[in-house]
Amino acid sequence: MILSDPQFVAQIETWGARFAPEQPLREHTSLGVGGPADLIVIQRLEALEPVTEGLRQRGIAWGLLGGGTNVLAADEPHQKVYLRLAPNSHDIEFRGNTVRVPAAAELGRSVMECAKRNLGGMEGLVGVPGSVGGALRMNAGAYGTEIGPLVRSITVFRGSTGRREELVPQGGVSFQYRKSSFASDDIMLGVTLELKERPFREILDHVKLLNQRRRGSQPLKEKSAGCIFKNPPGLSTGKLIDELGMKGTGVGGAVVSERHANFLVNRHSATASDFFRLMDLIRERVLRAYGVELEEEVIVWKN
Ligand SMILES: Cc1cc2nc3c(=O)[nH]c(=O)nc-3n(C[C@H](O)[C@H](O)[C@H](O)COP(=O)(O)OP(=O)(O)OC[C@H]3O[C@@H](n4cnc5c(N)ncnc54)[C@H](O)[C@@H]3O)c2cc1C
Repeated sequence: MILSDPQFVAQIETWGARFAPEQPLREHTSLGVGGPADLIVIQRLEALEPVTEGLRQRGIAWGLLGGGTNVLAADEPHQKVYLRLAPNSHDIEFRGNTVRVPAAAELGRSVMECAKRNLGGMEGLVGVPGSVGGALRMNAGAYGTEIGPLVRSITVFRGSTGRREELVPQGGVSFQYRKSSFASDDIMLGVTLELKERPFREILDHVKLLNQRRRGSQPLKEKSAGCIFKNPPGLSTGKLIDELGMKGTGVGGAVVSERHANFLVNRHSATASDFFRLMDLIRERVLRAYGVELEEEVIVWKN
């Protein structure tokens, strides 16, 4: 436990947050691996300022945990506190074809809430698990749709200043392939998206089609973090790994999915170090065979 000051812990509760010491990250990530870490669940957004200030004064580093669907957390005890915004509100505000969505809301559910109001254009994202905040940080995308281009403004809590700012894409926020320009200590609180008017029925048909494609090509019943590596320009990492005959290759409990070679799955109570070793093996083989250096898509949390 790295947060051991009882007075601070008691204060946290009064600010509208909850301290959860030594949480096994394997229980909070879709990959199902990761050692213990102290979590602070932020129930009222107003708590962010005193909590981060208190951590700063004590020299404790912090990170942000969303839905945990794109994180590979090391097995060792983590020397950081992870903040998590409580998903206590899926309240989406509708104004014409723009919508205001809280960062803690589930992305897929938000897509469907908008669809019910005949607002589409983000159907591609319906099967991307996790939170809206995580999707913004990662510029999540699927089937030709990325969240970045839909963004009109984002409310960010800046860890560096302890202030909230409303950012617009023209004013310095940029999105690239599975990457955004936010500082590592920025916390997304909410986003305004601009969508397209489209009949619910049409959106629903599209969603069904995409879900079917996803089910047919991804190991959705197993523990994974989605694609482990990014696609190099013009290439498919899944195809490169598949062509090397690596589907089914395992290290400890971490296995290259037979369904999609860029998905590594936790099949036999894997540890994070099994995944690190399997990733090294894949990187080495791909580099040797194709001269291509693979870049991680998954966010690795190591001390
Ligand atoms: C089965 C499966 C399928 C997937 N398919 C896709 C896909 O098609 N396309 C795709 O892009 N991804 C895919 N992913 C990966 C993952 O779902 C996305 O990256 C998702 O957007 C991550 O959101 P999260 O809330 O789970 O973030 P987390 O995994 O919790 O965190 C990811 C990063 O975002 C940061 N973060 C989270 N919330 C905030 C916030 N409020 N403010 C600031 N930073 C924050 C974290 O600190 C971390 O750096 C898939 C994953 C799985 C398991």
